[in-house]
Amino acid sequence: MTDFQSLGLSETLLKAVASEGYTSPTPVQEQSIPPLLEGRDVLGVAQTGTGKTAAFALPVLQIMGRKKPQGKRHIRALILSPTRELAAQIDERFAAYSEHMDIRHRVIFGGVKQNPQVRALQKGLDILVATPGRLLDLIGQGFVDITKVEFFVLDEADRMLDMGFIRDIEKVLKLLPNKRQNLLFSATMPKSIAKLAGSFLNNAVMVDVSPKEMTVDRIEQRIMFLRKADKRRLLVQLIKDERVKCGIVFTRTKHGANRLVKQLDQSNIAAAAIHGNKSQGARTRALAGFKDGTIPILVATDIASRGIDVDGITHVFNYDLPNEPESYVHRIGRTARAGRSGIAYAFCDDSESGYLVGIQQLIGKEIPVESSHPFHFIGAIPKPGQKPGKIKEKSGTKKRPRNQNSNRGRQNNNSRQNNNRSSGGEQSSRPRRNNRSRNNRSNQSDRGNQNHRSDRD
Ligand code: AMP
Repeated sequence: MTDFQSLGLSETLLKAVASEGYTSPTPVQEQSIPPLLEGRDVLGVAQTGTGKTAAFALPVLQIMGRKKPQGKRHIRALILSPTRELAAQIDERFAAYSEHMDIRHRVIFGGVKQNPQVRALQKGLDILVATPGRLLDLIGQGFVDITKVEFFVLDEADRMLDMGFIRDIEKVLKLLPNKRQNLLFSATMPKSIAKLAGSFLNNAVMVDVSPKEMTVDRIEQRIMFLRKADKRRLLVQLIKDERVKCGIVFTRTKHGANRLVKQLDQSNIAAAAIHGNKSQGARTRALAGFKDGTIPILVATDIASRGIDVDGITHVFNYDLPNEPESYVHRIGRTARAGRSGIAYAFCDDSESGYLVGIQQLIGKEIPVESSHPFHFIGAIPKPGQKPGKIKEKSGTKKRPRNQNSNRGRQNNNSRQNNNRSSGGEQSSRPRRNNRSRNNRSNQSDRGNQNHRSDRD
């Protein structure tokens, strides 16, 4: 087995890694650290939970420690992250790994007062972790200088694009010096990311830690077909029956998350919502309560959940199926971390069966069906040959009667075999990525990541 010594890390960093309790590098660390130490650019396909933060933070710190720049302290490493939570966690990791070094780091993001951030910047920093909106805002005000950056890290690049940050990223890239080392991490590698990577990485080493393997292997998955109106009751029943102490429930909208928290409360289940409309304080409190076990259930939207790094989540509930199949992989990856096992339940109502088809195509397998619950509804089962995407519910659409036995729908939806067949009037296209145009003002973006998505977080 590879150990950290053989990756070429310095004594100082080996000490830091040991005090974190890491005994051996994760695959993304094993593959990224050596080329990064050699000064190469790296394109990493890895999601949160794989150890990717250390994969870039350790070599960046090591190279920074090799020579101290002359003159005033200046920003030598810039890490861009799509969400505040992820940004804060990256900064925490830098704190842990640079404990024995003379390194000043700081995180900046929107939704909080800028003054403490400005003061820290004025004192001088070596490493800046930032969300794009606040970064550009403070650059615009003359508080941040990124013209001497030696390392540029773009984290969760796919989520950045989903959130409409592409123009902000381009603005940041224009301000960076030409000579620098670049790292791009993304959980998925759609064409748009490959294009972005090609625009600023130089002869990059590609490191692929496929999330598919993670999904399929360690996480037990179950799909449950039911009517929308029964979702809440099934959730309450599962939480109570399985005595869930640390579970995360995903809803598609912020409203949905708030409503569900209230409903769980009525069933005596303590829960907190985490989404972009919550103040930073409320998000931090919810996460702290979840981490220390006082709040057993966190109800989250996809974007807000990014970067939630809590080991020991035993249950993931896909209360609403995500309309982007990749999100399913991210969601269920919240459990079964650090070598533990976990279970992911997905609720599928009759408007979501197309999403299920897309998810199963992405993960390359059918999710086992759990039908032994009181709300099982065959009308939600994908039809043979159904295409990925959403079935548009037309008013007056006939629903199949509840008692109709549907062996044909045995969820063995033949979707892979029958992909070319039209599914008749219910034909729908694969959901488009949300390339919403953003509000122009970049400083809206951190607090307003959400705004341009209407109620979608
Ligand atoms: P990340 O994917 O960077 O968000 O890391 C996920 C979690 O894995 C964090 O809690 C890290 O502290 C932890 N971690 C990172 N590297 C290792 C390692 N080599 N061994 C054990 N845990 C690790």
